Order: sequence, then C-alpha cells, then structure tokens
Amino acid sequence: MLTKGIDVRASRTHNVGLFATETVPAGTAVWAPCTKCSRWSKEEVAALPEARFTALDTYGHLLRDGSLLLPCLGAYLMNHSCEANVLDLGLDFGIAVRDIAPGEEVTCDYATFVEDAGWSMRCLCRGPGCRGTVTTDQGGDPAVTGRWKDRVEQALRQLPEVDQPLHDILAPLSEPYGRALRGLSTLDQVSSGASVCAPSFVR
Ligand SMILES: [Zn+2]
Ligand SMILES: [Zn+2]
Repeated sequence: MLTKGIDVRASRTHNVGLFATETVPAGTAVWAPCTKCSRWSKEEVAALPEARFTALDTYGHLLRDGSLLLPCLGAYLMNHSCEANVLDLGLDFGIAVRDIAPGEEVTCDYATFVEDAGWSMRCLCRGPGCRGTVTTDQGGDPAVTGRWKDRVEQALRQLPEVDQPLHDILAPLSEPYGRALRGLSTLDQVSSGASVCAPSFVR
C-alpha cells in the first residue's frame, strides 16, 4: 500500500517512477506490504517460467519465506537512488527519511532487499554518493547500513509528529510502526528483526 500524494510520472532515470504531488514530511510511512499486494507462494514462484519470474522479480521482491510480492497501488514502480528519500532498514514499511517536496521523485535503495541475494543493477541515479552498481550484497556492508540506520532513526523520531495516511493499514499489521508511534526511536527498540521482506502479515 502506498501513501497519498504520490503519483506515477515519466522518470529521468527510468521509464516511469513515483513522484510526490504534495509534501511528504520526513517520518511519514510511505509504503508497506499489505494484504492487497499480489503474492506468489514459494511453490508458485518455483513453477513460474524463467522469463515470467525475471519480469516479476524486476518489480516485485522476494520475501524471506521464498514467496514473491508485487507491491500494490503502483508502489512497485518506486525507483532506486543511492541517496534514497525512503528507507526500510529494520522496518516492515518504507519511511520518508527527509521531507519530499512536490515534484520530487520518491526513491528507495534496492540494496536493502537483501533477501534477493546476488541481485545487481547498474545505477543511473548520478547522485554525489552514487555507488555505480547497486547490489543486494551492499545491504550487508556496515558502511552503507550505518548511514541508513542514522537516517531511519532520525525519521522514526518524527513519525509520531506527522500525519500518517497509512495508519489504519499499519496499526494492525506492523509492530515496529506501533512501537515508533509510542515514541521509541532506535532500531534496537523498534525493529526486532523486521523487514519489508518479512512483513508481519506473512508470519
Ligand atoms: Zn499492498
Ligand atoms: Zn546511484
């Protein structure tokens, strides 16, 4: 499920991407796996023809239980940036780690999808911190995850202060969301190993 105020438009780096149509404040839960997202079980994934799997894996992502999830409401069109404004480290939802201005592209970091081991892509973000090639192995690099952690924890401190359009979806599904809403803000306190690749509704 994707928060409000985000629309699909032509992208500079890819064919299409997600763009803010209104300010999305830091601390906003931007997207989360939900029961409306398309799912293929581990057995269904194994039975997919190779080309079909490749196509689905481009837009979807593998969950920890081996199933494949295609995020609903266009959330699967979120492009990668090495300076992503949405991160999900230790969370089962993506959080805005800085204010996203109207017209700005909404991006996440594909290196966070560590369950998709061995995956890589040439990056087109051309940001100052561009890693050139983005790989899911980078999601295990302490230098990369340390920067993500600082940004996510800063955003978690703002989570209780901002409007949360996804509240009704997240409140019953996400334990990390509930803890952050109660004012906990370090990943040690909030996370308990949560990940968008192991969302609570799957467990
Ligand atoms: Zn969904
Ligand atoms: Zn890049």
